[in-house]
Amino acid sequence: MEWMRRAACADTDPELFFPVSSEGPGAVQREEAKRVCTGCPVRAQCLEYALESKQRSGVWGGLDEHERASLHRGRRSRLRSSGTGRH
Ligand code: SF4
Repeated sequence: MEWMRRAACADTDPELFFPVSSEGPGAVQREEAKRVCTGCPVRAQCLEYALESKQRSGVWGGLDEHERASLHRGRRSRLRSSGTGRH
């Protein structure tokens, strides 16, 4: 994917974006990853990719897995209430 070449995290340790825990050092790591995402020029593309490919872990597009799940649920709910959803 072309957008990945412009990622702000291209030269960052990938492990930063996949903390093993959501508490303690893992929480610090996750916030540090989100800070990298804040200035990323391809943040929107990254987030869409993560949502479409159902990435279950890690920080993508500045959001962790819980935040993405919440965003996904909100989108599905809006689609359903507008009558354009599939379910
Ligand atoms: S938004 Fe974050 S995880 Fe996605 S490419 Fe940019 S820096 Fe990397």
